[in-house]
This record gives sequence, C-alpha cells and structure tokens, in this order.
Amino acid sequence: MPPTLPATDTLRRRAHDALSRVGAEIPEGRGIQARTPITGEGLFALAAAAPEAVEEAVAAAHEAFLEWRAVPPPRRGELVRRLGELLREHKEDVADLITVEAGKIRSEALGEVQEMIDVCDFAVGLSRQLYGRTIASERPGHRLAETWHPLGVVGVISAFNFPAAVWSWNTAVALACGDTVVWKPSELTPLVSLACARLLDRAADDVGAPAGVHRLLLGGRAVGERLVDHPRVALVSATGSTRMGREVGPRVAARFGRSLLELGGNNAAVVAPSADLDLAVRSVVFAAAGTAGQRCTTLRRLIVHEDVVDALVGRLAGAYRKLPVGDPFDASTLVGPLVSLPALDRMQEAVGRAQAEGGKVLAGGQRRLADIAPDAAYVEPVVMRVGTQTGVVREETFAPILYVLTYGDFDEAIALHNDVPQGLSSSVFTRDQREAELFLSAEGSDCGIVNVNIGTSGAEIGGAFGGEKETGGGRESGSDAWRAYMRSATNTVNYSGGLALAQNVSFL
Ligand code: NAD
Repeated sequence: MPPTLPATDTLRRRAHDALSRVGAEIPEGRGIQARTPITGEGLFALAAAAPEAVEEAVAAAHEAFLEWRAVPPPRRGELVRRLGELLREHKEDVADLITVEAGKIRSEALGEVQEMIDVCDFAVGLSRQLYGRTIASERPGHRLAETWHPLGVVGVISAFNFPAAVWSWNTAVALACGDTVVWKPSELTPLVSLACARLLDRAADDVGAPAGVHRLLLGGRAVGERLVDHPRVALVSATGSTRMGREVGPRVAARFGRSLLELGGNNAAVVAPSADLDLAVRSVVFAAAGTAGQRCTTLRRLIVHEDVVDALVGRLAGAYRKLPVGDPFDASTLVGPLVSLPALDRMQEAVGRAQAEGGKVLAGGQRRLADIAPDAAYVEPVVMRVGTQTGVVREETFAPILYVLTYGDFDEAIALHNDVPQGLSSSVFTRDQREAELFLSAEGSDCGIVNVNIGTSGAEIGGAFGGEKETGGGRESGSDAWRAYMRSATNTVNYSGGLALAQNVSFL
C-alpha cells in the first residue's frame, strides 16, 4: 500500500478537539499561524501579543509574585501537584497537540508529557526541600546561615522541539520556588502552549493560587525581546539556538538581570574497541535518528575506534535503511517530519557541504512523501563518513545527520570529542573501566551531560540538565538546579550579648 498521511482538516479537528477537552480557547486573530509539519499546512490564524500585552502580563505576574512569595513552599507545591494531576488526566490531549504541531511520533509525544508529570512530582517534593546551609561561625554566640528566597517574575522563552516539557521544567520548579512565570513559547507551537497554560490556569483556580502566577504571550522574536528587556523580569530562562542565546544573554546582562541559557548542542559518542556493538547500534540509532534529529541532545558525531568502525558502520547503515519515515500518528513510524521546509533545506545544504569537504553518505538522505505532501519535510536520516572534523561537522544542523569519524588512541578520541564550540551531551561506549572513568573525569568530556553505555539523548528529570560553552551554561530540572530560580541571603545572628567583629577587628 502506498504511504498515506492524515488530511490537514483531520489534524485541525484533532487539535481543536484536544484543546476543547483541556478547556482552552483558540484566540483567532493575526500575527501567528499555527501549522502542522505533518502536511506542512496551516491550521489556525492566531492573535499575537501586542506590546501592551507584554507590559500587562509582566505587571500581573509581578503583582501575583508579591502574594505568592509569602505562601509557604509546601502550599505552593499543591499548585504544582494539581498541575501534575491535570496533565495525567489530559496526557493524550497534550500529546496529540505535540504530534500535530511538532511532528513527534506518538511514543515520544507521550514521553514528553510524562516528563512534565515527572517534573511536577519532583517540584512537589522540592517544595519541602528548599534547604539552606548553616555555616560554622568564627565568633562565639553567633549563628551564620544561608537562606533562599523567591526571585520574582521568570520569563520563559522556549523552542519548538520540546514545546511543552521545557516550559514545565522551568514552571514547576519556579512556582515551587515562589516565583511567577511569563511564557513566550515558540511561534511554531502555539497550540501546545495554549493547552499547557489553560491546564495551569485551571490548577491555580482549583487550589486558590493567584491568577497571575502564570501568563502566556504568543508571538515571535519581537515579543521575546520585550520580555528579555523588561526590568521587572528577574530571570530570563531561554531555550533555543545559540544564535538566540547570543542575542538574549548580553541584553539581560546589560540590565543586570539573570539569565539561564539552554542552547544548541553538537553531541558525540565515542565507541571503543571493547564496546558492546549491539547495544551501541541500538543506542546510536535512537539518539541520532529519534525525534527526526531534532533534539538538543541528538547524537550528531560518532567517534569510532578504527578497529571496529567498519563493523559498526555496516550495521548502522543497515538499521538506517529500515527506519520507517512517515505519519507520526502511525504506530509503526519511527521518524516523523522535520519541522519545516527551511529545516530540510538546511539539512540538504549541510550534507552537500560535508560531501564537498570529502564526506561520503553511507545511508539515507532521500526526501520522502513529497508527492502527497509537497509542503511537508519528510526525509530519511543520514549517516555519513567524514575524514576530519572541520566546517560543517563542528556546527549544529538541527536535522538527522550523523557524521562518523575514526580515532586510534583514546586521548585522540577525547580531543576530537571536545573540539567543537558546543558542550551539551556526550557518551562513551566501552567495557574498559579505565576509559569510562577517564571520559567522566575532569580530563574527559567537557559537556554538562556525560554518559557511559547509553546514548546522548533522553535524560531523566532527576538530574540537572544543561551544557557548557556555546550551549550556554544553564542548568534546569533536577538536582540543585532550583537554586537558579531563587536568591540566597547570608544571615549572621548575634546571640552573645557582646559585639565581636569578624577577623578580630577592634573598633570602639
Ligand atoms: P530558536 O532559537 O529559533 O527559537 C527559540 C525561541 O527563542 C523561540 O521562542 C523564539 O521566538 C525565541 N527567540 C528567537 N530570537 C529571540 C530574541 N532575539 N529574543 C528573544 N527571543 C528570541 O530555536 P528553535 O529552532 O525553536 O529550537 C531549536 C534550537 O533549540 C536548537 O538549537 C536546539 O539545540 C535548541 N534547544 C536547546 C535545548 C537545551 O536544553 N539546551 C532544548 C531544546 C532546544
């Protein structure tokens, strides 16, 4: 049977029904076009936020902050718990919208909502664990302590590829920490954000939290820029390309605001001669071709020992040739569409440049379904051998291209691994403990995420998430990432009855 795709009308109805079940209305108007990458066609014309709306949203969030910061943290956790319950109830609805708007296959869309539920659970626990330390004072009868306070309004700017989860990492933690949130989602995924915002409004209503704890602003870069420049926005948490971060970081710094930047990656895995190749092949295919190569943690470079490269590459090419590309709602599909035709152009251009630099395509690269969906961007993931790590290999192309390089000794592998401007996620496949430990050590991978015998993508929310160098340096989600959403104060309490100055200073 020839491959088929759902009609745009069917997808429009599916999105409309999911939004209705969530209770969200579609703000029809001008400025934003909701589209689906499944057919590449438009779904709804939506109203973008006017400049005054940014002002109003930040003012409302600030007003709500003045109340919310005084609510005991475990009570704040009740709002996040309610959000988690509503997400469980509407898991399918939010996943439907993620598939319609971001083109994710079903199990990954459901996985994204599960990640939101997990981070809500995490933040509920966190609401009882916002610990400060007590520090030994050098003075008798004194107590020295660190306390943590809410920060203010957090501006969240998010990317299209995790249209819901990135918001929840920030928002669940920020709310537990006593902050309020104004969210500017990607202009490519407005429907997902309408559903998320509505669920949080409902949760706030249910637990009696101030309505202004969360505001949504639909719009493009101009709306984001207004949020970035707003003096009342204490923290700008921005997820997206390094290009975006390069613009946002200095603007926030210029007004002495705080920023948390989660930017592009160019993630690599090293495959050593002792590696379990079955495990490596399965991990690599998921990490490199999953989500159609559109994860910040997507595996883009494979650095393979010269003794095993032929065996590994043969198996990878075989697996790539069998990858089912097509309708992400179809349970047998593993690779959905790229987000847009320009994304496909960028992929083809990158493959062309790599070929011009001496690279050789081993499998993939053909466009698919263009006859039935000329506006959609279906493409076979590409695996290619490249001789050196120059030019295009050092850039993040947000598409499923895996460049295979070789190495002779392990130090060379680490040097190649680290010789890119980005520093998000990394892996080593080895059964040699010395190699694994070296890769994890200070002399090993320079990334924020460093794995052994598992791919670069698919992090759990319990660990802090983020990367170094051009990836921006931010940490979100688990571990002690919450500290970025709060401010600390150092307290000295003198209960001695006398005055003892620090460093034995005498005065009066
Ligand atoms: P993008 O940079 O085009 O857009 C991201 C967001 O930033 C959008 O909401 C956009 O409107 C906004 N924006 C763009 N320029 C802005 C500006 N000057 N001021 C304020 N806001 C601005 O990214 P994208 O194409 O949506 O997403 C893909 C990129 O995101 C990839 O580079 C990927 O690696 C990265 N990403 C990183 C992480 C991470 O955690 N490190 C997670 C997901 C995606």
